[in-house]
Amino acid sequence: MWAIMHFVVAVILPLSTLAQQYGMCTAKNGRNGECISTKSCSSSGGVSDPANLCPGDNTIQCCTYGTCKNTKGVAGTCQPTSTCKGSSDPANLCPGGNHIQCCTAGSAPTGPSPSKPVNTMLTGLADILRGAGVNVVEVAGWKTRGHGVMSSVKGIICHHTAGAATGDYPSLAAIRDGTSSIAGPIAQLGLGRSGTWFIIAAGRAYHAGNTLDDSIYGNNNAIGIEAEGVGLPATETGHAHWPEVQYQSYVKGVKALQKAYGVPTARVLGHKEAAVPKGRKIDPNFSMAEFRAKLG
Ligand SMILES: [Zn+2]
Repeated sequence: MWAIMHFVVAVILPLSTLAQQYGMCTAKNGRNGECISTKSCSSSGGVSDPANLCPGDNTIQCCTYGTCKNTKGVAGTCQPTSTCKGSSDPANLCPGGNHIQCCTAGSAPTGPSPSKPVNTMLTGLADILRGAGVNVVEVAGWKTRGHGVMSSVKGIICHHTAGAATGDYPSLAAIRDGTSSIAGPIAQLGLGRSGTWFIIAAGRAYHAGNTLDDSIYGNNNAIGIEAEGVGLPATETGHAHWPEVQYQSYVKGVKALQKAYGVPTARVLGHKEAAVPKGRKIDPNFSMAEFRAKLG
């Protein structure tokens, strides 16, 4: 099973590299794009223009990627960085590869350039969190654990477990291996009461269920974090049910993940916010408004 997954990844990667050799284009909709195969275009979330705008055979068409808002909220279009006349925002706001970014007429947002994972395992998770200065435990086998690869990282969903009342991370086995009703992994990351992060899976995890927008918050596109908690009722003010050391580590870790993958704070949601229908989930039982304010 895993040998097959790796084979598929190995085939997809060179194709996206090859795609560049046909150059850039402007589609009939006026948007800048790239000449790539219709198959690569649709699999990375773009739209192919069938007009004869590209070299190569009929399967090579001008692929464009729609509209976007940059991290300052300015409207733009998703296009190759090389065709952007204004500034490209490196945050993960567009479909396609790393070179497809949100292009606006305004000035470029400052900050580090995050990576933009596409159809891959998130094998950088442990290093990203260690870099944030939090305690990290790498759970054996995490780099190959998952329900397939992640399509992208566009959102982060905060959860809490409803596990045992004592111990640092008593839910580890359930989050890693699943329960009688859901197969593991149930989240990529766990957070213990001591503030220690458990790196459980690098691939897709079954944490989100139906969401407001699965292209951002669904299991294919959002990292799930299950923080140990006993499932006390949701509160909209403060974080009274949480040990301070755990809460502060939650903030630190999520900040580091945002920075590494270019996820804007507006796309860090609690499961209770992302889940549909509304009211389906109550986690996490702290104020997400306060949490996002601390993310900056
Ligand atoms: Zn949840």
